Order: sequence, then C-alpha cells, then structure tokens
Amino acid sequence: MNILIMGPAGAGKGTMSDRILDVYDVPHISTGDMLRENVKNGTELGKLAKSYMDAGRLVPDEVINGMVENRLQQPDCEKGYLLDGYPRTEAQAKALAEITDRIGKPVEIVLALEVKFDDLASRITGRRICPQCQAIYHIATHPSKVAGVCDKCEHELVQRKDDTVEQLKVRMDEYEKNTWPVIEYYANKGVVSKIDAAKPADEVFEEVKKALGKVA
Ligand code: ADP
Ligand code: AMP
Repeated sequence: MNILIMGPAGAGKGTMSDRILDVYDVPHISTGDMLRENVKNGTELGKLAKSYMDAGRLVPDEVINGMVENRLQQPDCEKGYLLDGYPRTEAQAKALAEITDRIGKPVEIVLALEVKFDDLASRITGRRICPQCQAIYHIATHPSKVAGVCDKCEHELVQRKDDTVEQLKVRMDEYEKNTWPVIEYYANKGVVSKIDAAKPADEVFEEVKKALGKVA
C-alpha cells in the first residue's frame, strides 16, 4: 500500500500512523520525525532545518525532497510506504510524483485528517513525545502511565519546542497557503479520503480503516 496521511499540526497523523502500522506492513516515514532526529544528532541537515522548525516554518523543498528520495529507495519500501507530513507544498508533490513514477509506486490513497483550530490548539499544547522511540502522548486524552515517562521505553517525555499556540498559528498559515493546494492536487486525481478527525481516536481509526479498506 502506498499511503499519504495529511492534516494540520496536531490533527492526529502520528497517532493514526501508529495504528495503521498494526494493520498494514509498510514503513512509517514522518519527515518531521526524520528532521528532529537530524537536529538531535547535530547533522548538517539538522543544523539547517532547526531554525525553520523552531519558528513553525517549512524547511526548504530541496532539503526535504532529497531526504525523502533517499528514504523511499531503502529496501523496506518495496512493500509500499506510509508518508506522514510529506508532501506539504506543490513542489514537493511534483517531486514525489517523479520519484514514485520512477520506482513504480504511485500514491494510492491520501487520508486527509480534518480538525478545527481550537481543537488543534488543545491537542498540541497537551502533546508530549518520547524523543527516543517517538511515542505520542497527551496529558489529558492519552496520558502515560507514569507522568512524564514513556510507557514503551521509559525515557523521559518532552514537549516539542514548536508546540505552542503562537507557533501553531504560523504552522496553520503555512498549511493553508502551501498544503491545501496539495490536497486539491490529489483530489483532482481522485485519491483523497477526507476524515473527520475531531472525534475520539478509536472512532477516527474506524473511519481510517474503512477508507483504506476501499483501496487495499
Ligand atoms: P500530528 O502528527 O498530526 O501532529 P499527533 O498524532 O501527534 O498529531 O496528535 C497530536 C496530539 O493530539 C497528541 O497529543 C495526541 O495524543 C492527541 N490526539 C491525536 N488524535 C486524537 C484524537 N482523535 N482525539 C484526542 N486527542 C488526539
Ligand atoms: P511535524 O512533525 O510534521 O509537525 O513537522 C515539524 C516541522 O518540521 C514543521 O513545522 C516543519 O518545520 C518541518 N517539516 C516537516 N515536514 C516537512 C515538509 N514536508 N516540508 C517542509 N518542512 C517540513
């Protein structure tokens, strides 16, 4: 399966991706996670990306496209892919089309998660992540068993630097300006499934499974 999961910051892309992986055997490729890993390891790419990420702005297309192109050529993508947070601009969508044409793995379905701003704000301010295993929590709706500690690997949980209401506004602006046209682009190809992602996670996942079931 070749899947894209799209939606604004905090819509639940990472949360739904984890659940999709329980059902479909594809690698989860989150450009945000890849960038954060580069920042953590102090790579050249990480140094370049950090200031954009901290500000809530998009990292330049060339950087992201190169990173994704390399990743999609890894052997585990033979089975397909679950791309999370990419493409976010029309230039990225065109680059992805070139790559996927070349490797013969066109996008089959785009899950477009929809949530309104106020809900996104409470989701991202309450989000805590594990910097070691990338597990996602929420202090109210999905707390870890021991406060501040990852259930899976026992690492200390952190709050992302860009998870503030102020940064969310910038990220939403970027989303509306750059990423809505990408959803239009895929809608014109007839591959978009819109999902009401404001509901509790179990209900959202039921909708996601239904949508995936139609193309599986
Ligand atoms: P994204 O990857 O789209 O930025 P996440 O999956 O990290 O979003 O989710 C953002 C926050 O909202 C996390 O704290 C997560 O636990 C929480 N969350 C995700 N889906 C739901 C949902 N359906 N209802 C309530 N909270 C949710
Ligand atoms: P995310 O984890 O998806 O919320 O992404 C966190 C940040 O990483 C974004 O606000 C951007 O700065 C950067 N980023 C992630 N994916 C992309 C992308 N496809 N294009 C540009 N920047 C990205």
